[in-house]
Amino acid sequence: MIKKIDHIAIAVQNLETALETFRNVLGCDPGSIRVEEVPSENVRVAFIPVGDTKIELLEPMSEESPISKFLAKNGDGMHHIALETSDVENEVERLQSQGVQTLGQPKEGAGGKKIVFLHPKQTNRVLLEFAQKKH
Ligand code: ZN
Repeated sequence: MIKKIDHIAIAVQNLETALETFRNVLGCDPGSIRVEEVPSENVRVAFIPVGDTKIELLEPMSEESPISKFLAKNGDGMHHIALETSDVENEVERLQSQGVQTLGQPKEGAGGKKIVFLHPKQTNRVLLEFAQKKH
């Protein structure tokens, strides 16, 4: 079951600069923000809390990162919307039964969450991430 929007992600070329911008714009406490490396996606990320959801800033760690390709094509900008679910595997099964494809199998994302992406061709060119909290 989908619970809520877990985060909205923005791809950026420079995480430190973007963090400063969003911290200022949102007026939030710098202490509440953690920066993390996600090896499975080849990115550095920072989550900025906004109420009970978050804004995720994504910076590529190498040219091979999918975020590098996104930035080369589009520049900085909105990248994906993540939905929190209680069971990613269940959602993948449900989606497959409806003919909706995921981009690969569920894997470990930021914060040790189990995540999977859906191909944006199927969802009006919006990249969706399904994320399940680590137990
Ligand atoms: Zn995300």
